[in-house]
Amino acid sequence: MSALDPRLEPFDALVKSKQHFVLSTHVNPDGDGLGSEVALALYLKARGKDVAVFNDGRAPHNFAFLERLFPLEAFDAARAEELFGRAEVLIVLDMQNRARLGRVSPFVDRPGLTTVILDHHVGDEAFGQVNVVLPEKAATGELIYDYIKHDPGRFTRPMAEALYTALVTDTGSFRHSNTDPDVHAMAAHLLTLGVQSAVLQAEINRHRHMDRLRFVGHLLQDLKTSEDGSVAWFEITPELFARYHVDGSDTEGLVDFPRTVPGVEAVMMLTDLGDGRIKVSLRSSGRVDVHRVATQLGGGGHKFAAGITLEGSLEQARRTMLERLGEAVAALDPMSRPYAGAATPPAGR
Ligand code: 5GP
Ligand code: MN
Repeated sequence: MSALDPRLEPFDALVKSKQHFVLSTHVNPDGDGLGSEVALALYLKARGKDVAVFNDGRAPHNFAFLERLFPLEAFDAARAEELFGRAEVLIVLDMQNRARLGRVSPFVDRPGLTTVILDHHVGDEAFGQVNVVLPEKAATGELIYDYIKHDPGRFTRPMAEALYTALVTDTGSFRHSNTDPDVHAMAAHLLTLGVQSAVLQAEINRHRHMDRLRFVGHLLQDLKTSEDGSVAWFEITPELFARYHVDGSDTEGLVDFPRTVPGVEAVMMLTDLGDGRIKVSLRSSGRVDVHRVATQLGGGGHKFAAGITLEGSLEQARRTMLERLGEAVAALDPMSRPYAGAATPPAGR
């Protein structure tokens, strides 16, 4: 086995020398953030460490199975005091923009606490004392895998299941352009550790109830497109959530659908959070750099999958985003080709 990536050595030194760890990830946690947390928490526990996973909110319903592997705690003020009263290291996974820690964010400033960022997003906002940001990794889970695989005696099936969840989520079930040879090699290794791919993927893609399917049907029926068809978008309101008894976690993956249609360059999902903010999810078919569009407005992510939370009304968000995406589409080289629904795959997500 190759040596540990030197970029992980400062993190490894903390694991060796410290005892009390808290792990956290971004608001609206996804399979990569949660899977990375669970795998690393199980591993640290196996090394005799005191570990808690503590996030702003609860995990979406389709990741409930991860909770059976390790407790996923949602923010509670008293519990925060208890945990951060003894924590020596805070490990922040799958994010680097501090505001996205939600209610956990203020605890970063606790005297004596060392914050570690383990992430794969493009960006320079990492606020830890130890920052391991590797954008070439398909998932944060791949970075955790690179670490745990050096200790095969402690690498268990539950850790492999959590890491497989991270990998499946961030590669769109091995469909996105970040699916490289390392991704498949990692997946193969996780299967040898006992992961049942079909069972796990059925869990991840489970529909909670029939209303969820009807909600998806409503959104697809109501899909909007720009005049030239290059931008497609969904609009979601609190009323729609209430009508179908669903929430934000039920929109996961939907934004990927329209980009398989030839001619669609970018897709967005505008979710009215009901508190004066609009969550914007952006996807590209492989030519428009949606990361650039998102960062110009204060968001972040990856080249072909990014997001932002905007202040204001749905109408304002729609107008701003259509303008920015329209400009990005207009600036495209007419000779380049998208990959979703077309031939040439671009490099890197
Ligand atoms: P999603 O659309 O699946 O929520 O997010 C797509 C990508 O954009 C993810 O990598 C996610 O971390 C990033 N992203 C989504 N929303 C935000 C946001 O409000 N701020 C930043 N910095 N990144 C975001
Ligand atoms: Mn990720």
